[in-house]
Amino acid sequence: MKLARKPVKAKDRDWDVIVIGGGASGMMAAGRAAELGASVLVLEKNKTVGNKLAITGGGRCNITNAEFDTRELLKHYGSAEQYLYSPFAQFGVQDTFTFFEKLKIPFVIEARKRAFPKSQKATDVVRAMRDYMRDGKVSIDFETTVRKLQTNGDRISGVMCEGKTYTAKNVIIATGGTSHPETGSTGDGFAWLKKLGHTVRASNPTLVPLRTRTKWIPPLSGVSLSFMKITFFLDGKKAFSKTGKLLFTHFGLSGPLILNSSYEVSELLDQGAVTAKIDMYPDTDAGALDKRIVNTIDANKNKNFVNLLDEIVPHGMDTTVASLLNITDSNLKAHSFTKEDRKKLVTLLKGAPVEIAGLMGQDRAIVSDGGIVLDEIDTKTMRSRLFQNLYLTGDIIDINRLSGGYSLQLCWTTGFVAGTAAAGR
Ligand SMILES: Cc1cc2nc3c(=O)[nH]c(=O)nc-3n(C[C@H](O)[C@H](O)[C@H](O)COP(=O)(O)OP(=O)(O)OC[C@H]3O[C@@H](n4cnc5c(N)ncnc54)[C@H](O)[C@@H]3O)c2cc1C
Repeated sequence: MKLARKPVKAKDRDWDVIVIGGGASGMMAAGRAAELGASVLVLEKNKTVGNKLAITGGGRCNITNAEFDTRELLKHYGSAEQYLYSPFAQFGVQDTFTFFEKLKIPFVIEARKRAFPKSQKATDVVRAMRDYMRDGKVSIDFETTVRKLQTNGDRISGVMCEGKTYTAKNVIIATGGTSHPETGSTGDGFAWLKKLGHTVRASNPTLVPLRTRTKWIPPLSGVSLSFMKITFFLDGKKAFSKTGKLLFTHFGLSGPLILNSSYEVSELLDQGAVTAKIDMYPDTDAGALDKRIVNTIDANKNKNFVNLLDEIVPHGMDTTVASLLNITDSNLKAHSFTKEDRKKLVTLLKGAPVEIAGLMGQDRAIVSDGGIVLDEIDTKTMRSRLFQNLYLTGDIIDINRLSGGYSLQLCWTTGFVAGTAAAGR
């Protein structure tokens, strides 16, 4: 369905609200302001809206996290927690469910309370947001790159794009962060806001996979292990551990466990050499694991040991484990596997060593941290404390969070609150 698209000439009218950026939070803000009766124009540099939204959750879109207890939910936003009670009281997780169900997006809830559209299609979520904007008669100027903001005292007086200046009572900046820049999020808003006097904390990829220098990892590319514990070490000293799902890739490690560790790993990498150990059986201690191996061997004494490995190690790891144990004789009988060999196997399963080379770049990051510091935003309205008609939403704000639907929930919440306030209601 086509969106209403009014031709806009230079200074052709004063809009109630201009939203810069048609990503998740910008679309929510625009739709909400329009729903309240404001005239709304979205300026989007791409040919379409929602490019990043369309690739979220591996194309399935983890829309939110089904944690309905706001206090519990906000614990996932680190030091931003105290700033977020007010916006989440206006639009929380239950509101997100109601909002999307009204737009004909029913949910399914998966592990770790992650909520996805039942269709498993992120493009359906983009379509729903387009419908929301169309219903409110939001105008969109595509392929329009904003270059600069004009100010007059403590007001934004103009939004400048090649040769044109747009004006509005209120301006919402929803230009996103710097992860996956090919989707349009190139950090433009950070540059403008810094020039206007806002404090912008430097942007680094936070939810990002890790590059490793460990030869046994790339051949496992595509193998995913659902309940692993990884312990990171700084210069050989234990730093921290986490458990969760891990994915091996051709460049190193990914999956929720790694994405959720990457912020802390980035801080360690600034201080020294980082290594890690993967515990493939976090719920079983070394003694119990050894006993299990003994039982498997006893029940299959005359079988070739390599054929038993699939019963002993996580699925998909047998060939790698055999090679790490230097088992070159594929006819080695299980009964010949010595106590010493078992010790090596248990040590490997409880702590496979990995050398961390670094973080993957912005191109692979799920979110980047950094952005406008929260002290400079009134989170009751998402209004800048420096400019009385400027509002900020989504990834442009400096809020560190885990993966699991928390980023998009932040977009729905901040977009709704900014849209409501900017509409003057
Ligand atoms: C691969 C990937 C998967 C992800 N999966 C999930 C997930 O499943 N769940 C989750 O909660 N979060 C996920 N995230 C994070 C989530 O996508 C972001 O938090 C969210 O999209 C940010 O929305 P936003 O509105 O702040 O900005 P963006 O979505 O980045 O949109 C910014 C928009 O502004 C436009 N723009 C930028 N500069 C200008 C300019 N100068 N002029 C005009 N327009 C401009 C851009 O073209 C873009 O359309 C994922 C991120 C990535 C990269």
